Amino acid sequence: MASIFTKIINGEIPCYKIAEDDNFFAFLDINPNAKGHTLCIPKKEVDKIMDLDEETYMGLMAFSRKVGLAIEAAIDCNRVGMSVIGLEVPHVHVHLIPLTEMKDATFQNKVTLDKEQFEATAAAIRAQL
Ligand code: 5GP
Repeated sequence: MASIFTKIINGEIPCYKIAEDDNFFAFLDINPNAKGHTLCIPKKEVDKIMDLDEETYMGLMAFSRKVGLAIEAAIDCNRVGMSVIGLEVPHVHVHLIPLTEMKDATFQNKVTLDKEQFEATAAAIRAQL
């Protein structure tokens, strides 16, 4: 069965899209640690990051860097942190999280955004790409 993230790539589930190329896709995390928290994923559906072939792994890092630079330009933060966890969704994803304090990196400190705030955040990041 397709992962929830494959359904997002295919447009079967809506998302606040940031970027897409032939192999990768980026969108806002629906339950963000901080405003601008973004997920970068390979279109190829693989569960664990260490199981990616090297080309896809390196491509995902390059794609994530581009998106991360745009987040850093668009969102007021100290820096953009990167995490890979994957305990909830078995489809490789890189978390890019605007960090101001250590708690922003903990996944226990969540922020609530409404639809307009998600849309404005996604537009601000896209404008920096
Ligand atoms: P992990 O698998 O790394 O523990 O976390 C999965 C992440 O995906 C979580 O931060 C969660 O908020 C996010 N997530 C889960 N389902 C959806 C969804 O349907 N849409 C979006 N945009 N994010 C999701």
